[in-house]
Amino acid sequence: MIIDSHAHIDTEPFDEDREEVIQRARDQGVEYILNVGCDIESSRRSLDLAERYDLVYSTAGVHPHDVKSIDEDTYAHLRVLLAHPKTLAVGETGLDFFKNYSPKEEQLIHFRKQVELARELNKPIIVHTRDAQKDTIAILADYFPKNAPAGSGIFHCFSGDQYLADRALEMGFYISFSGSVTFKKADDLRAVAKTIPAERLFAETDCPYLAPVPNRGKRNEPSFVRHVAQALADLRGVDIADFERASALNFFELFGVGRQAKTGTIAYQIRNSLYLNLTQRCTADCVFCTRLTKPVVQGYNLKLDREPTAQELWEAIDDPKKYDQVVFCGFGEPTLRLDTLKEVAAKIKSAGGQVRLNTNGHGNIINKRNILPELKGLIDEVSVSLNADTSEAYDAVTQPLPGFRNGIYDKVKEFIVEAKKYIPKVQASIVTHQKEVDEEQCHDLAENTLGVQYRMRRYNIVG
Ligand code: SF4
Ligand SMILES: [Zn+2]
Ligand SMILES: [Zn+2]
Repeated sequence: MIIDSHAHIDTEPFDEDREEVIQRARDQGVEYILNVGCDIESSRRSLDLAERYDLVYSTAGVHPHDVKSIDEDTYAHLRVLLAHPKTLAVGETGLDFFKNYSPKEEQLIHFRKQVELARELNKPIIVHTRDAQKDTIAILADYFPKNAPAGSGIFHCFSGDQYLADRALEMGFYISFSGSVTFKKADDLRAVAKTIPAERLFAETDCPYLAPVPNRGKRNEPSFVRHVAQALADLRGVDIADFERASALNFFELFGVGRQAKTGTIAYQIRNSLYLNLTQRCTADCVFCTRLTKPVVQGYNLKLDREPTAQELWEAIDDPKKYDQVVFCGFGEPTLRLDTLKEVAAKIKSAGGQVRLNTNGHGNIINKRNILPELKGLIDEVSVSLNADTSEAYDAVTQPLPGFRNGIYDKVKEFIVEAKKYIPKVQASIVTHQKEVDEEQCHDLAENTLGVQYRMRRYNIVG
């Protein structure tokens, strides 16, 4: 099930075959189409489609190209359209200084007015911005503080740089990519797309324009959104099913349309690995960890009301050979449940599966003994969060709980070295963008001093 977060199927290029276009979208598994208004007329047509087709939702707003046509009644019409339950957002609005079809001053005034309208009505905003990065950020920053909660709206057909993406995320926006992310020369855009957290990402067509490869140059339509989604999944190293699940949850969280991810997921598939959710407890409180505030990974909600038993976990695995690996997940510390971990790992191994453990490396302190000999033959691969190059930096980033402070960093390094004796593959990992941490030093420490593989995870990408 996939979503086209930005389409214009109300427009004239679809007049001949709109019905077929919508049917093709359905046939290709498109679950929702957000059809975006550009002025009062197209916002009305959008809503008309939304009333006729269950999968179509609409927005109402005035595109920066069209603000020159705004008159004294425009905002009153917008308010009427926005009162409809299928009108989900204000927009598209924003700034386009590339084409400048409307005077710059009017664009600035009406972008601000539409943002204010959205705030008043408590609706998300669909932002169009082109060659207007500075002014776009300046206006939005007046309404959305840094670290605003997710829900401000969508930066659509994103074509900006990393700076714009990071500011948009900080202000609580989602980022949507169009077919342009599939174009041959779009390496810079793909590099940005790789850094957007799954829980803030959408795919769109912006049809009839910007058809993705392999349909580039043709009229675009919602069924082609699959190519955009596939490109985003590929460059992020996940399966299209992972992308679809995450963006469906995003649609629900932003607009309240679709399905909430149910809590209590104890086994979940990402790519071809199955992850096991043993616990949400941990002996650290890393500054980047969202396990308590937003325990969502690739569209799965890992909130546990009750920790699963070994039997429940084993039943959830079904057949471990179906997966590349079964992973004891590090969203919560698995070695806090060592007995369960060992019991399930033993079953997976005897059924011919591969086992990986993601851990913070506190297992020997937690269990008050060297647990690594006990893991021999049960765990094929372990990834330990090294997180820092000094003890001070480790404490600042990882914030160990009382009882796990005072030099635990050295114990984590010992754990890594000791692991090499019992576990065939050992990795040390860090999370990027922590100001206390020297990433180069970590790299050197992992490979040259500890003698293990080094892995980096971007601070806001989980799973
Ligand atoms: S060690 Fe892992 S689970 Fe624990 S707080 Fe840090 S990121 Fe979260
Ligand atoms: Zn646009
Ligand atoms: Zn558009």
